[in-house]
Amino acid sequence: MNKNRPDLVITSARVLDPATGTDAVLDVAVTGGVISGVGHSGGPGGSQAIDRAAAGDVIDLSGRWLMPGMIDTHVHVGGDLDGVTNPGIGLRNVVEAGATTVVDLGGRMERIVAGIREHGAGANVAGLGMMKPGVTLPDDDPSPDTVRSVLDAALASGQIGLKMWGGYYPFSMDVTADIIAACNERQAYVAFHVGTKSSGSRLDGLREVPALLGADGRVHVAHINAYCRGSILSPAQETAEALEILDWLRGRVVSEVHLARPNFTRGECDEDGNVRMDVARNCLRLRGYETTREGMRRAISDGYGSAVRQTPAGLSLVTGEDGVKIFNDADSLIGMSFPVNRADTAFQLTAAKRGDGSFIVDAIASDAGVLPRNVNIEQAMNMVRFGGLTPLEMAEKLSFNPARMIGLEKKGRISPGMDADLTVIDPEQGRAVMSLVAGRVVMLEGRAVGGATAGKGKLLVTSAGESAAAGYGLPYEMVDLSRSLLYTG
Ligand SMILES: [Zn+2]
Repeated sequence: MNKNRPDLVITSARVLDPATGTDAVLDVAVTGGVISGVGHSGGPGGSQAIDRAAAGDVIDLSGRWLMPGMIDTHVHVGGDLDGVTNPGIGLRNVVEAGATTVVDLGGRMERIVAGIREHGAGANVAGLGMMKPGVTLPDDDPSPDTVRSVLDAALASGQIGLKMWGGYYPFSMDVTADIIAACNERQAYVAFHVGTKSSGSRLDGLREVPALLGADGRVHVAHINAYCRGSILSPAQETAEALEILDWLRGRVVSEVHLARPNFTRGECDEDGNVRMDVARNCLRLRGYETTREGMRRAISDGYGSAVRQTPAGLSLVTGEDGVKIFNDADSLIGMSFPVNRADTAFQLTAAKRGDGSFIVDAIASDAGVLPRNVNIEQAMNMVRFGGLTPLEMAEKLSFNPARMIGLEKKGRISPGMDADLTVIDPEQGRAVMSLVAGRVVMLEGRAVGGATAGKGKLLVTSAGESAAAGYGLPYEMVDLSRSLLYTG
């Protein structure tokens, strides 16, 4: 390909490339889906100049910021959520929020495939298998052999590893440690919403991680902010201790924080009218409600809890008497949301650095996707405005570090040879206004537009999932998790 004749030249953008520390107004040339040049604006001839006149297409991004495409390492696009039937909502939501690559933290491959086929909006998607007793596991006490066969089946289906939901389906310490060890043996990805049968989805769950890892275990610890809601100590004390634990586990743990106020959980109650899920019980206790069906109804009626309802446009949160009706009609089997995540701890966890300047929590992720809180960029921009992050640091936490977490060496950077996955931010509006995947526009002004032109999306799979991916008839790309920060850190 003639690199002097790019398919596309993006001109006059403020380019944010954390890998090289570049923060300057530059042009970016794209050829064959790959970045073919980054340089100062100009005509032919100059050594650093990008030749705009020769380009197939030119997009003028004066006044806009251009960062490597947002990589959201914690979304839900392939899971079963009570009351949600459309598997494509999440895929559209993530693209409309500016993401170009996402990791589905625990779901079903067939739902991801169906979602991409029917409603794919052009994002790259990696999935983790869910460890759910009665669904992907016979029970909550699987043998080492069972764990390994579930992992192998997940990898063979095209997922890149496993996710444990300690806050919903906790295992014993031994089983939890074994699941991590099994994933580590195969250098598969492994993500952990903390909590075991001897702790909870709280700081006490995070405190167990060093013991679960032993000498050299590796794990992705999900949404650190969810363990700093003030369930055990004060939120400030929990945040300080969480940062201390993560700093101590440097090189063995990767982690993310989300910046949204609402959480998401399940309303499910048992035959005796007790709320089943640890996360939901914690939410009720935080405001003094009983952890029962009646306590849940009161919390919704008072406007604290919301039921999640699917609408054609996506999901919405319904509180008050309408919410109680949804909860009753679904016989408690409904997604629920509580405004329990704290801005102060999220800010602190996002900004905290070690003495050498590296971030203690690697990434900002949404824990959204299908859930209506895909606010990474808006909230990160709020932090930039407040002075909590520089624009380059924002790009580091939204793209460069996430790319390293999954070992995507051609993403998360804006330099020649890298994939032309790019996210454009309007600093006035404080949100993403355009995204490109492999040089094709997939989002414009908050609307997913890529399905028809740029393809519906690509699967990211390990070598064990290659034949499954080929069988799905979708584009796919191999990831090498031995290059993941999980294993190189
Ligand atoms: Zn999650």
